[in-house]
Amino acid sequence: MRKLASIQKIKALDPIPGADAIERATVLGWQLVVKKGEFKVGELCVYCEVDCLMPDEPRFEFLKPRGMRIKTIRLRGQISQGICFPLSILPAGFDVHEDIDCTEALGITKYEPPIPACLNGTAKGAFPSFIPKTDETRVQVLQDLLDRCKGEVCYITEKVDGSSVTFYVNNQEFGVCTRNFELVEDPANTIWKIARELDIENKLRALGLNIAIQGEVIGEGIQGNPLKLRGQTVWFFNAFDVDQYRHFSFGPFTELMRGLRLETVPVIATDYKLENDINVIVTLATRKSLVCPDAWAEGIVIRPLIERRDPEIGRVSFKAINPEFLLKTGK
Ligand code: ATP
Ligand code: MN
Repeated sequence: MRKLASIQKIKALDPIPGADAIERATVLGWQLVVKKGEFKVGELCVYCEVDCLMPDEPRFEFLKPRGMRIKTIRLRGQISQGICFPLSILPAGFDVHEDIDCTEALGITKYEPPIPACLNGTAKGAFPSFIPKTDETRVQVLQDLLDRCKGEVCYITEKVDGSSVTFYVNNQEFGVCTRNFELVEDPANTIWKIARELDIENKLRALGLNIAIQGEVIGEGIQGNPLKLRGQTVWFFNAFDVDQYRHFSFGPFTELMRGLRLETVPVIATDYKLENDINVIVTLATRKSLVCPDAWAEGIVIRPLIERRDPEIGRVSFKAINPEFLLKTGK
């Protein structure tokens, strides 16, 4: 579970060229602007990540113009992600420990982008329990994993900004799902429309497996269509073997997609040796899109070529979001 707000150590404080009143703090793998002198290196603070929706209280009044939402901003040329507060904002008696989650204690919730009407059909039920939901952890909280996996050969795909979809065949049943629900068939629903256009039901049935494929629906009317695509389509990033409860590795996944004549998310590299430097990985993510060279990519997703699980984090797979994309799109 993502900790939106947690108690963290100020790892470093560095000057910002040309600015006297503010400085750059490092917390986890994040960099943010703080008032000069407000914190000391090694001190604990309450760190609130980007996407926190702060409660409407006088002490968070300064966030009102931004809809109470913590976003990526740039101050004096320095990108700033998240906000540090002194521990004194915690309720009396809160048990202070490094890395403790304090999201609930502070009444913070997560900002969720609205799902466009064309994708939101009628729910047939909850998301199937036999398929993992799509999700990616942010690289900024994974320093330990990077240290453990340094040098491992990975592939990198472009993260595209749309809405998550899942198609499956399980025990002869075909299903179409959004991020959180399975949908009743409806020709007015974009996801079902795409499923029929791409003949996904027949293609999956022909495999004779219990299988799920997961991708991102993108295009006109979805998340502002940053890649300026015509129409709407789906680009896949996962195949999941339901019986073995296992994701396909990159090789078998791309072969499967080629065989089904379905598109994958853009592949940036297949021979990336994982580095254990978060700033270097964020720099890798600060790139233009492979499919729309004049638009910023949303970011990248990194996974080992051979799927594997880590005892601490589960599936080894994570994202680095492009801060320039966040600034440009106001996220
Ligand atoms: P957070 O977990 O940071 O709170 P979130 O759960 O809203 O954010 P996203 O930031 O959208 O999720 O990141 C994860 C999602 O990115 C996946 O669920 C998937 O739908 C989507 N995605 C887009 N492109 C890719 C890609 N290339 N590889 C994997 N997932 C991708
Ligand atoms: Mn998530």
